[in-house]
Amino acid sequence: MTVLEKLTILSDAAKYDAACTSSGSSRTAAPGSLGNATACGICHSFSADGRCISLLKVLLSNSCVYNCQYCVNRVTRDTPRATFTPEELAELTIGFYRRNYIEGLFLSSGILRNPDYTCEQMIRTLELLRNRYRFGGYIHAKAIPGADPRLIERLGMLADRMSVNIELPSQEGLRLLAPDKSKVSILRPMGYISGRIEENRHDLAVYRHTPRFAPAGQSTQMIIGATPDSDKQIISLAEGLYKKYGLKRVFYSAYMPVTENALLPPPGTKPPLLREHRLYQADWLLRFYGFQANELLDDAHPDLNPLVDPKCGWALRHMEFFPIEVNRAPYEMLLRVPGIGVRSAKRILIARRAGKLDFAALKKLGVVLKRAQYFLTCSGKMIPGLRVTPESAMRALAEPEGLALMRDSSEQLSFFSAAPALSHGKENSHEPPPSLLA
Ligand code: SF4
Repeated sequence: MTVLEKLTILSDAAKYDAACTSSGSSRTAAPGSLGNATACGICHSFSADGRCISLLKVLLSNSCVYNCQYCVNRVTRDTPRATFTPEELAELTIGFYRRNYIEGLFLSSGILRNPDYTCEQMIRTLELLRNRYRFGGYIHAKAIPGADPRLIERLGMLADRMSVNIELPSQEGLRLLAPDKSKVSILRPMGYISGRIEENRHDLAVYRHTPRFAPAGQSTQMIIGATPDSDKQIISLAEGLYKKYGLKRVFYSAYMPVTENALLPPPGTKPPLLREHRLYQADWLLRFYGFQANELLDDAHPDLNPLVDPKCGWALRHMEFFPIEVNRAPYEMLLRVPGIGVRSAKRILIARRAGKLDFAALKKLGVVLKRAQYFLTCSGKMIPGLRVTPESAMRALAEPEGLALMRDSSEQLSFFSAAPALSHGKENSHEPPPSLLA
């Protein structure tokens, strides 16, 4: 098999992995080496299906001894197999880099023989790139669950970012669909990487030239819609991973049915892309807006509302906190108003030192009044003439994606009827009409 044939198979097999963003590394290359991993030296673009293509995103091998039911590379699937030698892959990467096709490498692999052997092959590839070709560009390497910690350590010294995919949000999902994996086998390397990153940070504070371990941190990916797990389970797990392992990112990847299995959505089912989008929005609220997972979703509302973004959904369910007075509200509360982002909240704090703010001033500060007007007063007054009913407010706040979903639904839905199911095997409950200006 030629290298080009291998590349065709192995780059296609890698496209289902979403955890490949390349931002966040500040490691500079040694003098005389090729490439540079500084944030400004890496740019990324996304293909039509949303996958990152600025890196050479490829598997070392799509042969795998495991049998994860949701995966195109599982051992029982009849599909063409290919495996690069480390020399082939290193040469290919550097050739593409020199031609300016790519800025870095995203390397993953099926489990060849066993996790240790696979990890050794990946290390060999990265050693060739770093040492023989003096490649200083960005490398994201998948840590292989079950590999010896000494191998994970070596891989982390060669890569910029590492990731261990958690894949399914629950132990039950793993048991049913990925019987060779377990929560422990996934969380152990994640814990090891997190500990080493922390240790390395301390060492660097004392010894400036300490070799760096995974300087761009670690990330993970969860598949959405392959199992009946609720958004509440997914977001709570993501929150736990951020807190416990200091992850840079959790990626959510809408499941694309690639296989027939009674436990999975049938081929032809649309990937739940809107749900994926809502989860990214909720994730953003956890990381930058001070929300807790249990505020966004609870047992009464286990799934995100497809019609409105998660911040609007939270605000409409908690009208007891609103309207807030924009000239007095603390920063944390301003951040919770739909239509006010981190930047506009900071601008409000600065601007109100100079005098009272009105709605015209808020607009100039970048507040999206179309959304914020239902939740704010300026000097005790709402926008003059604003007549609000729950239906009209929800209609104003509903996003085009959610409305399109409603239009596509076979049933005629009202804004406050049950929302259509977003994915295989689960109904999405919708909150009752909010009492907006009680
Ligand atoms: S271990 Fe990875 S490559 Fe192998 S079947 Fe499971 S998900 Fe696919």
